[in-house]
Amino acid sequence: MLCQRCHRKLKSQRSIEIGLGPICKKKHDRELVEAEFLKNQITIDEVLEEKQVS
Ligand SMILES: [Zn+2]
Repeated sequence: MLCQRCHRKLKSQRSIEIGLGPICKKKHDRELVEAEFLKNQITIDEVLEEKQVS
């Protein structure tokens, strides 16, 4: 079983179940969050600007 992102061998049972190594899982999760921002048509920059205004 190899990581779907970097194609390295997965060592832990959990990683094998997910199909991603722990680092690639984090990157994958981050991409999901960014995709959610895009879906809502809000960019991370806009969120940061809102924080600066308030
Ligand atoms: Zn990987």
